[in-house]
Amino acid sequence: MEQDTIIKLAYLVAAVLFIFGLKGLTHPRTAVRGNLLGALGMLVAVLATLVDQQLLQHAVGYWLIAIGLIIGAGIGVVLAVRIQMTAMPQLVALFNGFGGGASVLVAGAELITHNPAKEGVDATITSGLLAGLIGAVTFWGSLVAFAKLQEYKSFKKPFEYPARQPLNALLGLIVVGLLVLGAVYPAHAWWIYFLLVLVASVLGVTLVNPIGGADMPVVIALLNSYSGLAACATGFVLGNTVLIIAGSLVGASGLILTSIMCKAMNRSLAHVLFGVLEPSADMASADDVYAGKVKSTTADEVAMLYDTARRAVIVPGYGMAVAQAQHAVRELAQVLESRGIEVEYAIHPVAGRMPGHMNVLLAEAEVPYEQLKEPGDVNPGMAQTDVALVIGANDVVNPEARDNPQSPIAGMPIIEVDRARTVIVVKRSLSPGFAGIPNPLFAADNTLMYFGDGKKAIMDLVAALKE
Ligand code: NDP
Repeated sequence: MEQDTIIKLAYLVAAVLFIFGLKGLTHPRTAVRGNLLGALGMLVAVLATLVDQQLLQHAVGYWLIAIGLIIGAGIGVVLAVRIQMTAMPQLVALFNGFGGGASVLVAGAELITHNPAKEGVDATITSGLLAGLIGAVTFWGSLVAFAKLQEYKSFKKPFEYPARQPLNALLGLIVVGLLVLGAVYPAHAWWIYFLLVLVASVLGVTLVNPIGGADMPVVIALLNSYSGLAACATGFVLGNTVLIIAGSLVGASGLILTSIMCKAMNRSLAHVLFGVLEPSADMASADDVYAGKVKSTTADEVAMLYDTARRAVIVPGYGMAVAQAQHAVRELAQVLESRGIEVEYAIHPVAGRMPGHMNVLLAEAEVPYEQLKEPGDVNPGMAQTDVALVIGANDVVNPEARDNPQSPIAGMPIIEVDRARTVIVVKRSLSPGFAGIPNPLFAADNTLMYFGDGKKAIMDLVAALKE
């Protein structure tokens, strides 16, 4: 068999492995295998690309690739091993950004060293310009998203500057103009490319800067999709089939995730991208909401509440991830079930800091997947729930989203724990969640605040129940 055929076959095998890998990732039980299949597909793709003769035409020597592989793999392994589970979302944001950045560099290098215009391949120029545009928006947008997820102080609120929307519109127009210019004057592609990357970099920052609060999951999913689209465009520039396929798969799955997240937030994509969702000045302050109305409780009191309970719901949120309380939570559920109490976990699609965050943690603690319910399934039974225990969740149980049309999270579906007979909220203080707004649930008549670190609080509760 000719080498060319073997390489094409290897690309096909890689593509099939990617697709089976993605399929595996759709369920926690098959996710690890799916991940391995995807990684294997990538290994096949990289090896096949390395022996691909075309590579030599692209002015990249093997030694340079080897150095890149060693440095990249080294940094990747150190990051993956040392990263805290709670910092995973930031790492994912960085990975998206690096994907976009790599596309900018590769497509740019290709346009400069190979000036396709002179070789009469104009379609490559358009792909190259698109790779630069999407890649630069992804890189800078992801860096801003990283800073927001890391909760860097200066990024908590968007930078204020006049005429935000008109400026974005102007940048968008310049981008379109440069794309047209590149197609009409291919001989000038390289400087048009630099200009385009420059404008797209500013656009990446100005587009993600105003998005905040509860809408971040949509942005993360969208940037993930952009990184795939940029890689796909770069695949066209290089004429590399497997990069086109892998990029399209990432782009498409990212778009599907974006749509799922938009539905979970009850938002349109346009609303997320162009609406401003920061707490407004005329919102009730934390003092107005909480002063004199918050009641706290202890492990023993909560244990007594469960004595007469028949139905209990557990609502985990980002704080469960911070406290690493998932194993303690599973033990609590088992103790309750051994007393004949019906237990359900209510999982909000945007709870935590990345899509599926709670599902991953609870699967790690071997909580049966069937017990994890979506808000739509658990809310109808909330009025018949004796005890709703909220552990480290805040925004996803904030009744403001349902009751106050002026709230920055207005319209977002919530888990309506406030309709349960008694609500126990486990958290360390009255600090707000990611959206940065007070939560009237904590001051409600049927709510008791059980202050403390999530893991210790639940372990104390389990001990009290066993006594
Ligand atoms: P929130 O961010 O609303 O609240 C988390 C709460 O956990 C805080 O109020 C904090 O209170 C508490 N907490 C922190 N550490 C601990 C601990 N050790 N023990 C006990 N409690 C702790 O979380 P939710 O899950 O309710 O909502 C997720 C938010 O993040 C939403 O706004 C969502 O849009 C956003 N987001 C989600 C993403 C996703 O993809 N899922 C991505 C990016 C953002 P205290 O400090 O008082 O303990």
